[in-house]
Amino acid sequence: PGRLAGKRALVTAAGQGIGRAAALAMAAEGATVIATDRDARKVGDLAVRGILHQPLDVLDDAAVERAAKQAGQIDVLFNCAGFVHQNTILTCTDDDWDVAFALNVRAMWKMARAVLPGMIERGGGVIVNMASACSSVKGAPNRFLYGTTKAAVIGLTKSIATEYVAQGIRCNCLCPGTVDTPSLHDRIAANATAAGSVEAAHAAFVARQAMGRLATAEEIAGLVVYLAAPESTFVTGQAIVIDGGWTL
Ligand code: NAD
Repeated sequence: PGRLAGKRALVTAAGQGIGRAAALAMAAEGATVIATDRDARKVGDLAVRGILHQPLDVLDDAAVERAAKQAGQIDVLFNCAGFVHQNTILTCTDDDWDVAFALNVRAMWKMARAVLPGMIERGGGVIVNMASACSSVKGAPNRFLYGTTKAAVIGLTKSIATEYVAQGIRCNCLCPGTVDTPSLHDRIAANATAAGSVEAAHAAFVARQAMGRLATAEEIAGLVVYLAAPESTFVTGQAIVIDGGWTL
């Protein structure tokens, strides 16, 4: 049996990138996975891999409540949804601020709040939140708003971990460096003019990692599996950096 046999896991933003890789990796370890994404088309094909799927916009409070109820028992919540604004304190708009905090922070609160009563009742559960190395761990240029929200994710994670540490519920977050996902290519394209070319913009992202390469989504998914699995039962409240040496 896999390391997650008998477990039920719900993943947000499972349509592409790290969320999708984590849904596949947890399913491969025997979990029953409910893959959700705002864009239903991106999760539909996971059915052939034995993964349940449903549309879920995590900004919709009522939909979040409904999804948690419909899902039934949730042993593992992977709060993966998030957006990377590229801005500085001077270029960040009020709208950017509201959107980023709503998606990167508030939605994690709402999702966790929806699944926690069931976890408390059963005396166990795991919540994994997506933070970033760019957070309270490290500043990065042009990531004013992003780093601010991801620092909040670390605070949210530690608060949940502290509250429920005696009730068998663990809460940790991931702090990745740069990961090769579809949205990274959007950011590279957005930086191409300033960098001189798409290749130069790509090279600048690669150069940040001391290992001289980007992470794959599967490498990050491996850490999600670890944090969900029995081998990490003594780990809670941690912000785990997985960054190819960016913060060395
Ligand atoms: P991505 O950005 O390529 O894909 C994001 C997915 O989220 C899409 O499928 C999209 O449909 C979905 N989504 C967007 N808004 C949503 C909403 N309101 N409700 C539900 N789903 C929604 O994926 P990624 O790059 O793997 O990023 C996933 C997470 O990882 C984000 O929180 C991001 O901040 C974080 N992260 C990414 C990197 C990186 O370099 N890619 C590094 C560190 C942290």
